[in-house]
Amino acid sequence: MPIFDLGLSAAKLLKESGINVLLLEAQNRVGGRTHTIRNKEVQYVDVGGAYVGPTQNRLLRMAKELGVQTYKVYLNGHLIQRQRGKSYKFNGAFPPAYNPLVYLDYNNFMRTMDQWGSQIPADSPWKAPHAKEWDNMSMREFIEKVCWTSQGRKFAELFVNLVVTAETQQVSTLWFLWYVNICGGTARIFSTDNGGQERKFVGGSGQISERIMALLQDRVKLERPVIRLDQSGENVIVETLNHEIYQSKFVISAIPPVLSTKIHFTPELPPIRNQLIHRLPMGSVIKCMVYYKEAFWRKMGLCGCMMIEEEETPIGFTLDDTKPDGSAPAIIG
Ligand SMILES: Cc1cc2nc3c(=O)[nH]c(=O)nc-3n(C[C@H](O)[C@H](O)[C@H](O)COP(=O)(O)OP(=O)(O)OC[C@H]3O[C@@H](n4cnc5c(N)ncnc54)[C@H](O)[C@@H]3O)c2cc1C
Repeated sequence: MPIFDLGLSAAKLLKESGINVLLLEAQNRVGGRTHTIRNKEVQYVDVGGAYVGPTQNRLLRMAKELGVQTYKVYLNGHLIQRQRGKSYKFNGAFPPAYNPLVYLDYNNFMRTMDQWGSQIPADSPWKAPHAKEWDNMSMREFIEKVCWTSQGRKFAELFVNLVVTAETQQVSTLWFLWYVNICGGTARIFSTDNGGQERKFVGGSGQISERIMALLQDRVKLERPVIRLDQSGENVIVETLNHEIYQSKFVISAIPPVLSTKIHFTPELPPIRNQLIHRLPMGSVIKCMVYYKEAFWRKMGLCGCMMIEEEETPIGFTLDDTKPDGSAPAIIG
């Protein structure tokens, strides 16, 4: 799962290879879905992509090269499961349950996802043995099929909601299992310790894009949304919203697929590509950080991680978001 601007990293690589490169960015800042906000109260806070862990090796290498350090998310103490108006302390990967069948259910859900996922080729998921059948099945149907208990189903739903910020009925089983598999499997993608949420960047993830922009100097042009791409001649002609025209031999498009519906292509995109970009909705999520005078939960022996399984709550999962030096005590939901 990349966290930094793919366009910027491509531009950096090309520039280092001696190729004349220009990056057109729609917004008035770089970073895209990463965004570090700074103010004097909290110093810095990531409102977009923030967490990084083992297997995100390209990103970790890039951060090291750019001098951006990481720190481990605070994990000392119990986690909390919130269910039917009550809070229960627990340790380990799974929320507690009275019924031992629920543990088997959690385990079976994860194991089945990993078993199916391991059959999906990373570079050609459509060649998986049951590709068509799995692509026709939503994750809601998968969960109905695989989970036996209502608590197991709730956990499974939370798993999907957190990993791809979408509802289970919106997600193809083939796509989801492929995604989890290329991120290292269920345990890696979901865990904090030794998993996808293990670390954050000191100073914020936005620094990675900002530092690449500094290396590229005037080769980055902000506030240039591309609206037209003409590939009918020898060179590609690119037009931006403010009617600037650029020409080049090659163009790399590093935008979320659905946003290419805003670009007029000549010649038209092939029908199958057009169908695809109309059917690839983005996830949707709001991060909410609450700041406190002190990290009181730490004194209570809690790590700040909560799994909230109540339907009416807007927040499903929390983590301690205090800065690594102990300042700006916070919980993020
Ligand atoms: C709230 C949130 C939390 C997340 N948490 C994590 C996390 O903890 N860990 C993790 O690994 N990932 C996380 N992600 C995902 C991660 O942020 C993204 O995968 C990553 O930032 C994507 O990078 P990208 O370069 O592919 O696309 P983007 O970041 O979307 O960059 C695309 C760029 O293209 C620009 N653009 C779009 N259209 C045009 C156009 N027509 N012309 C010119 N420019 C255009 C955009 O403005 C943008 O700057 C999170 C995402 C969000 C939103």
